[in-house]
Amino acid sequence: MNKKIKSFVFNSFGVNTYIVYDNSGKCLIIDPACQTMEEETALIQYIAANNLSPIGMVNTHFHIDHIVGNTFVCNKFNLKPQCHKESKLFWRTAAEFGSVFGIKVENLIVPTDFIEEGDTIPFGDAAFAVLYTPGHADGSICLVNHAERYVITGDVLFRDSIGRSDLPTGNFDILYQSITQKLFTLPEDYTVYPGHGPSTTIGYEKQNNPFLR
Ligand SMILES: [Zn+2]
Ligand SMILES: [Zn+2]
Repeated sequence: MNKKIKSFVFNSFGVNTYIVYDNSGKCLIIDPACQTMEEETALIQYIAANNLSPIGMVNTHFHIDHIVGNTFVCNKFNLKPQCHKESKLFWRTAAEFGSVFGIKVENLIVPTDFIEEGDTIPFGDAAFAVLYTPGHADGSICLVNHAERYVITGDVLFRDSIGRSDLPTGNFDILYQSITQKLFTLPEDYTVYPGHGPSTTIGYEKQNNPFLR
């Protein structure tokens, strides 16, 4: 089965931005990380060329590299950022974080649309179930599409790796619990689409991830 998901790799941190869509072309933009004009153009051209209509935008967490295109996407498509409310430290400190990492944050839109564990995020005839998975950063969520058997994991779980836990609000034990007690309850064939790097599966990471032995 072809999953209705498109990925882009954006900005100097190599963040995966995902567009997910339903049968009618309604789409969500996940972690809009476009920073340059070329990246912004690539995103909007894909949406136009495939007749997609963006109806929402979700941040898996509020680290600067994952939100750098928030303002562009919100203004372009008249959307509001959706995220977990425990991300608040990161929008309060986005400008400082940005200057440390060489990313300029202008006119950041402060989120007011919050999602939490157990919520459903519909997009047309498709939907995500939300898992709350802190440990890399407070406010980190994973988005599960049960119909298409995949999960978007942000910086929680990567192929053969896991998210850093040494940044503010990071905690290895909590990250380990988020992965082993939440993500690893998903079926093994579910595809994992991480915030950086190639896709993988729940089963592959259970077997092979060196950080989770
Ligand atoms: Zn992160
Ligand atoms: Zn990241």
